[in-house]
Amino acid sequence: MYLVTIDVDKCDGCSECVDACPAQVLEIVDGKASVTEEECLGCESCVAVCPNEAVTVQEL
Ligand code: SF4
Ligand code: SF4
Repeated sequence: MYLVTIDVDKCDGCSECVDACPAQVLEIVDGKASVTEEECLGCESCVAVCPNEAVTVQEL
């Protein structure tokens, strides 16, 4: 399983990661990316598209 972490200080809420995620793991809440209860597939698409290096995906 994977742990997805958002650095809210770096995130500007652009929504690129939300659009890129195939598993609806990410959403925008109050202008920042937020992690939902959906299971991350570990594809790192969100990491690739984030312009601010705000997303981290860690295999547990
Ligand atoms: S690694 Fe893939 S499945 Fe997991 S949150 Fe990022 S885009 Fe979604
Ligand atoms: S792509 Fe990066 S900056 Fe944009 S909403 Fe996602 S985490 Fe935030």
